[in-house]
Amino acid sequence: MAPREGIRCWVCGRTLEEVRQTIGTAAPELTDVDRSMAKVSEARVKFAGEAGQWMDLVPDQFKAMDFAFVIGNPTQFRTIRFLDEVEHARRSHVQELGDVLALAKKGKEFTIGEIKVEANDSRRRDTVVRDLEDFERKSGRALERSKAGDEKEDAGKPSGFNGLKLADGLKYLRDAGLTYYAVQQRILEGDKEDEKKKMPTYEIGMAKIKGFPKAVPICTVCENLIKGL
Ligand SMILES: [Zn+2]
Repeated sequence: MAPREGIRCWVCGRTLEEVRQTIGTAAPELTDVDRSMAKVSEARVKFAGEAGQWMDLVPDQFKAMDFAFVIGNPTQFRTIRFLDEVEHARRSHVQELGDVLALAKKGKEFTIGEIKVEANDSRRRDTVVRDLEDFERKSGRALERSKAGDEKEDAGKPSGFNGLKLADGLKYLRDAGLTYYAVQQRILEGDKEDEKKKMPTYEIGMAKIKGFPKAVPICTVCENLIKGL
């Protein structure tokens, strides 16, 4: 039987609202999901800073050259000091996204950043597929994969950096890199929601306490305390 509005816990004398206020003001426990979120946010900010500089640092005379040609000839273009950063981002972000999307679509397990998604985890997998297909649609390109040629099955769109000039390729790489972090953030936000659902909810219910003949209203906090006696 649910107690009527405004009723107070027989032990601590608080109403449900007061119980929730008290519990709500306690410092929330820092969980692994919180720590992962902080890590991903930090990496995203760092990447955004790096990628933002590429456009400023690339010499104008190279901007209209073919992206793949420049990136594939780092010794030739060694005046562009950040080419190794670009190549690294391409492998660790863009190609990883391409591999992740292919695996996710096939319903296989995959890892993005440090997040492992099991084959049977449809909630996280659907998030990833939706976000990455959205990115492919908006960019008009199929994501490049780590094994060259694998993305050809996704016909109809240019794949990877094919046909992009250096300036456009850098912009695409920045967008894909930011998506790489945004997808992880979205997964973790979902994890956080799941975590919240598992947190105890506080109620005032009727319970019998040893030694008293009648049930009395008692809040979850006091009930747990008494149980522990
Ligand atoms: Zn109480």
